[in-house]
Amino acid sequence: MSGPKIAGVKGMNDLLPPQIETWQFIEGIARSLFGRYGFAEIRTPIVEHTELFVRSVGEVTDIVGKEMYTFNDKGDRSITMRPEGTAPAARAYIEHGVANTEPLTRWFYTGPMFRYERMQTGRYRQFYQLGAEAYGSLDAAQDVEVISLCAEFFKQVGVPDVVLHLNSLGDASTRPAYLEALKAHFAPLVEVMSADAKLAFERNTMRLLDSKEEALQAAIKTAPAIIDFLDEGSKKHFDDVQRLLTKLGIGFELDRRLVRGLDYYTRTTFEFIYQPKSGESSLGRAGTVCGGGRYDRLVHELGGPEKPAVGFAMGLDRLVMLLDSLKSVPRSAPTLFVGTFDGPERDDAIALVMALRNEGFHVDFDPRGGKLNKQKERASKVNAAWFAAYGDAEHKARTLKIDNMRLAKDAPREQLDVSFDALRAWLNGASKGSS
Ligand code: AMP
Repeated sequence: MSGPKIAGVKGMNDLLPPQIETWQFIEGIARSLFGRYGFAEIRTPIVEHTELFVRSVGEVTDIVGKEMYTFNDKGDRSITMRPEGTAPAARAYIEHGVANTEPLTRWFYTGPMFRYERMQTGRYRQFYQLGAEAYGSLDAAQDVEVISLCAEFFKQVGVPDVVLHLNSLGDASTRPAYLEALKAHFAPLVEVMSADAKLAFERNTMRLLDSKEEALQAAIKTAPAIIDFLDEGSKKHFDDVQRLLTKLGIGFELDRRLVRGLDYYTRTTFEFIYQPKSGESSLGRAGTVCGGGRYDRLVHELGGPEKPAVGFAMGLDRLVMLLDSLKSVPRSAPTLFVGTFDGPERDDAIALVMALRNEGFHVDFDPRGGKLNKQKERASKVNAAWFAAYGDAEHKARTLKIDNMRLAKDAPREQLDVSFDALRAWLNGASKGSS
């Protein structure tokens, strides 16, 4: 008798074939494109000291307040499974004294993040981000470089209709006057606020702009916008960002309400949102596929040198969902499937399959053997482009009769004779058109 089944943890997905190919496709494009933009990969641990996120993301945020997977390890230290990648990257940047050896650093990372969130389409408890961070430049060119990297990435993976939303949060000198105006705006509503919203009002008023509370919606719509409070320096910086984006032909929408959830952002903030021109978005409300911005104070606040930085994180789960709904990522399939018989030449057939694979061709067979018809069904199932039975006659003639498996339903059979000597050359040609 088999034992009881054990289910996976809610909100955490298994990534299985064939969908895994969409993940590999995205990761492949990321590695090559990010590399060409001068971004080198980093890999930091899944867990960090809890304090890192409390101090960087901010105490009065949903992430730190409610969503972190936090536990005490056996040495009684508070450990948190990373909910995002910017703070760990900054921690590593500081810990390894990277600023001492290079004035400009560009990194990217990809991997799982963990947030105990309410589940919905495109929202999981273990999800994957692809992110980039650039340390060391205050110049608008740096903001635009990372935005351009995102825009080109979406183009190359083949996601249409992602719209860049852009805003500026100004810098430290912008905040006090703005926060004062915002507080005055929301003050009459304190009585009707939930405890959460009250806390945000007191300690992180900008978070109210993201609130979903019914009683606050009208006030959110009429709230003052931070963009109207920018100092001269931030204004010029934001103008430079927009000018350069226009020069590069990267379209954007100014979004006065875009404040983003994390505490550490300054100046430029942006999101890429999937907004299909026609029809409903398959992502529903989870249409934000990338969020980022500048965070000039974070490195210093975490005990490092004064180093400005700008970065972003993309949600890969959402991107995979989108690409799968568009069916735009090709699936790999064998060029040739070799059928075998239960006779003395079966070993030769198997040896041929292995040799071809080892030489670089995608060739398959059915290790269970059995009836040829069943093997052919298996060849169809794995979407092999061609099928050849290898039996006594083929062994003696040193020639395979190769059938086209991808013909239209009522098309006549297409069979080729290919000698063992000509097999590699034929496979070279066939593999170009088949997978
Ligand atoms: P954030 O770190 O919150 O700025 O998120 C950056 C991107 O990660 C978002 O735009 C989403 O695409 C993705 N993301 C954030 N949280 C989740 C989640 N719980 N599940 C899936 N994707 C997420």
